[in-house]
Amino acid sequence: MAGKIEVMLGDITQLAVDVIVNAANSSLLGGGGVDGAIHRAAGPELLAECLTLDGCSTGWAKITGGYQLPARHVIHTVGPVWEGGKANEAELLASCYAASMELAVTNGLKTIAFPAISCGVYGFPPEKAVPIAVAEVQDFISEYPEIEKVIFVCFDAEMEALYREELGES
Ligand code: ADP
Repeated sequence: MAGKIEVMLGDITQLAVDVIVNAANSSLLGGGGVDGAIHRAAGPELLAECLTLDGCSTGWAKITGGYQLPARHVIHTVGPVWEGGKANEAELLASCYAASMELAVTNGLKTIAFPAISCGVYGFPPEKAVPIAVAEVQDFISEYPEIEKVIFVCFDAEMEALYREELGES
């Protein structure tokens, strides 16, 4: 199972996997950070499909095509905004990972790349978010062997180090 999880430093929009996950906002109509990068790289057809989805609640996920991306699909999930830790943020973040992987399995997708959901503008402390992300993914892939690979894509070296430490790689 450990071999199915990978950590990399890079730009998630460049990955030729079955599906990349977008840290979206509840409108699903684009935003900054990784969301903006995904919409720019996928092209305007992605926004056109997102317009038909009627948004998404925090902790849930919806799937679209990948359009101009090397990835075949995008799963848009809405992470919680960090409000100090007493507003169910941990459960909601865990739910983002679980809902995204469930959608991947339902759609027959076997390789999936995640950004560090909520760890940018939404302010979730990375040292709290990373153990949640890793635990959810480990639990899920132990139950669903059809998932072949999960890649945690980190935009900076500090985040990469946190994931590697959590996975016992450092
Ligand atoms: P949120 O609003 O959920 O906090 P952000 O997009 O602001 O989402 O940030 C989530 C994480 O994604 C941050 O760690 C940020 O550094 C990272 N990120 C931003 N752009 C990219 C990208 N192109 N590829 C991978 N990760 C990215």
